[in-house]
Amino acid sequence: MRHDVVIVGGGITGCEAAYATARAGLRTLLVTTSLDTLYALAHDSYELAVPGGSLLAACVGRSGAVRVRAPEVRRAAKRLLEAEPRVHLLQSTASRLMVENGVVAGVDTWEGIARHGALVALCVGSFLGARLTVGASEEHAGRLSEMAYDDLLHDLAGRGFEFRHEELALDGLAGALPYIVRFQVLARGEWAETTYRLGRSGGLYAAGACVGRLGYATAVTDGMALGAVLVGALSASAERWPRCP
Ligand SMILES: Cc1cc2nc3c(=O)[nH]c(=O)nc-3n(C[C@H](O)[C@H](O)[C@H](O)COP(=O)(O)OP(=O)(O)OC[C@H]3O[C@@H](n4cnc5c(N)ncnc54)[C@H](O)[C@@H]3O)c2cc1C
Repeated sequence: MRHDVVIVGGGITGCEAAYATARAGLRTLLVTTSLDTLYALAHDSYELAVPGGSLLAACVGRSGAVRVRAPEVRRAAKRLLEAEPRVHLLQSTASRLMVENGVVAGVDTWEGIARHGALVALCVGSFLGARLTVGASEEHAGRLSEMAYDDLLHDLAGRGFEFRHEELALDGLAGALPYIVRFQVLARGEWAETTYRLGRSGGLYAAGACVGRLGYATAVTDGMALGAVLVGALSASAERWPRCP
């Protein structure tokens, strides 16, 4: 099946972007490694500035300064996205971009099934080349118990994309050991902050932690802004990419 937009990664950024594009009428595929971790927040509760019109506002039922509770937000985000008729939630991992004549045409998934879309947005957070160190052990993970596969990083690197190193050290929660997540983010020159575009292919966008913009409030606003950019880009190119029925 072909989608208007393929969004890779169901963290805060990708969920907000998918909600925005679907509500604007775009057929949206949100592909993410685990549907259990949609809209993931690390701690149980946060005081956040919740923008009106966001998925987060729909989850908590209001906007403004709100103490949001992670389990409730996660449940509500999944329920609201599932209820959007133009969102297709897919549990899988994007392993490779499909690019035709310099324009992105979708992604290949780890299982080998191609997913076609007129536009592709990478919202892959802290998962590019991610290594998580807890005590003496290291695993391929972007967060605790969340697997990270290296295929997409290798594909992007093979296409000439450049990266820089990012690292987050976290205190242990409730008696757990402290841990460190090391990962790659797209280098500054790869990404245009105003248009969210990645310059090496037409139709390719990125936002959130994978371009080095960290923090939950930033992820919410980045996801919303990315969604609006995708809607604008698709309507501007309606002749080249006829809208999916
Ligand atoms: C461990 C940790 C704790 C943090 N704690 C805080 C905090 O307390 N407060 C704060 O403000 N910020 C915190 N941050 C920073 C914050 O996580 C990020 O800025 C924000 O969550 C990023 O959201 P995101 O949607 O861009 O990425 P992420 O939340 O990282 O989501 C990316 C999603 O993409 C999926 N994915 C990755 N690769 C693929 C692929 N190839 N195919 C399909 N799916 C894929 C992942 O499984 C994941 O679900 C923390 C970051 C980390 C790593």
